[in-house]
Amino acid sequence: MHQLHQLKIVMKIDKQFEDIFRGKLYQVFMYLIDRCNLSCEQCLYKPNLAFQLHRKEIPYNEAKELLQKFYDLGASKVTFMGGEPTLYKELPQLINDAKEMGYSYVRMDTNGIFPKEFLDDKNVRKIDEITFSLDGYDEKTNSIRGVGVFKKCTESIKKAVKLGYMVQITCCIHKGLTKKYREKLGVSQDKLSKLAGVTLHTLTKIETGATSDPRIETLKKIAKGLSVSV
Ligand code: SF4
Repeated sequence: MHQLHQLKIVMKIDKQFEDIFRGKLYQVFMYLIDRCNLSCEQCLYKPNLAFQLHRKEIPYNEAKELLQKFYDLGASKVTFMGGEPTLYKELPQLINDAKEMGYSYVRMDTNGIFPKEFLDDKNVRKIDEITFSLDGYDEKTNSIRGVGVFKKCTESIKKAVKLGYMVQITCCIHKGLTKKYREKLGVSQDKLSKLAGVTLHTLTKIETGATSDPRIETLKKIAKGLSVSV
């Protein structure tokens, strides 16, 4: 939230920002809230980081003001994010505000852990896209997000699809997923190393956890070898 606090100050006093972006701003990503109802292993919002921040969310009036300012600068697409944006109680109102201001594309990124009624809200129904974060294809491969999260999130996804929302899924590539997915496809390590163009040694180290922080280029190659688009 410290960043958000700084952002507000910049928007208030830094004319340079407006001069540079006037008419050129296309889309904005609004981090409305730092709070979250999960504690994923890979999260940047670790308590030891987030608890040092001064404010946990942008007050609604400021968020609306910023939204209008971004729109006036040219933005037509906005993404609401967090933390978990559905914990921001004025989110439905803000979605409505964005559409009324004239934003042509309004979307949000969510972990899918929200009350069932959330998707029935008449203002939420105006959103153009909901992207759900899911890091596996079952409880085990998604376990970096927490116990039972896969079931709850997929229930939300099913309901969103049923109600006609445009639904996307964003996925974190991690070693547990790589190994499990490879095994599910029945692809040997040797074959995947050839398909991906990475050495067998590298692949083995990633899958066993010996390499805990693999390079993004390597993970992209492995994803390509598994025919997963990233
Ligand atoms: S859902 Fe997102 S913000 Fe929440 S703990 Fe997981 S990664 Fe972090």
